[in-house]
Amino acid sequence: MTGPGAAVRTLDLNFQGVPGVIAASVFDTGDGLAVVDVGPGSTLPGLESGLAAMNASLADVRHVLLTHIHLDHAGAAGTVLGRVPGARAYVHERGAAHLSRPGRLLASAGQIYGGEMDRLWGEMRPIDAERLEVLSGGEVLRLGGLEVRPLSTPGHAVHHLAYHVRDDLFVGDVGGIRLSDTQTPRAPTPPPDINLPAWRESIATLRALDAHTLHLAHFGAHPNSAGHWDGLLATLELDAARVREGLERGQGMDDLTGSFTRALLDDLRAQDPALPARYEFACPPWMSVQGLVRYWGRAAARGGEGS
Ligand SMILES: [Zn+2]
Repeated sequence: MTGPGAAVRTLDLNFQGVPGVIAASVFDTGDGLAVVDVGPGSTLPGLESGLAAMNASLADVRHVLLTHIHLDHAGAAGTVLGRVPGARAYVHERGAAHLSRPGRLLASAGQIYGGEMDRLWGEMRPIDAERLEVLSGGEVLRLGGLEVRPLSTPGHAVHHLAYHVRDDLFVGDVGGIRLSDTQTPRAPTPPPDINLPAWRESIATLRALDAHTLHLAHFGAHPNSAGHWDGLLATLELDAARVREGLERGQGMDDLTGSFTRALLDDLRAQDPALPARYEFACPPWMSVQGLVRYWGRAAARGGEGS
């Protein structure tokens, strides 16, 4: 390992044996390694082999920076902290309770994934509250020799944080899914928190920052560019409009899911024939439909777009 200031490494967690779908980002703080989003419990071996490839191990991890608590990014955090007594996890205040008591989170995921829970996500162990650094965004953390700035960035999840470290910006899922440089970024919109005005505002916050590189949970490093954010905004609006129009036409859920999925996968296929298969592992389109249906339902109940 090299000292603080060394480059950020993207570790491919090889989720379900598929490369380039779920990433963890690692950098040296000078006070141990920081890992942004450790991934699900099921890919812990992938995290360990990624660390080994940089001549490190779990024991070198001191800081687990979570962008949000969804299973595909935070599931392994409790296991990692259990194995590394000196490590701490960083999380938004609205997500912290779910890490200490993951029962409700696991129950609602279980309703979606049923018997596939263990194969997909593996184990999610609770984290003692004393091991959590609870954030609201806007703090300046000093980790070793580095300043780390968590930023409240809701839209994908109400408790989503991005982390700004020097020239690097760790954008979790609010920065979109981008599985290759040629793919237009796409918003993952699963239930239950999707909020379009909040997401637009988070994009405005992030694109105004001075950073050279974006690190996406799905997947990896991309240059920070106007094109990235413009593309993400455009597809976010497109996907949201497809669902709203389907609902307005009275399309049933199966029909809407089918037409949304076809349209989304066609968009991706036009950019690269290999993208649709990988995209399903990053965020299945049917999940995005459910999140947007829920969003539009709540917006209608409130008599406007906001929620
Ligand atoms: Zn995700």
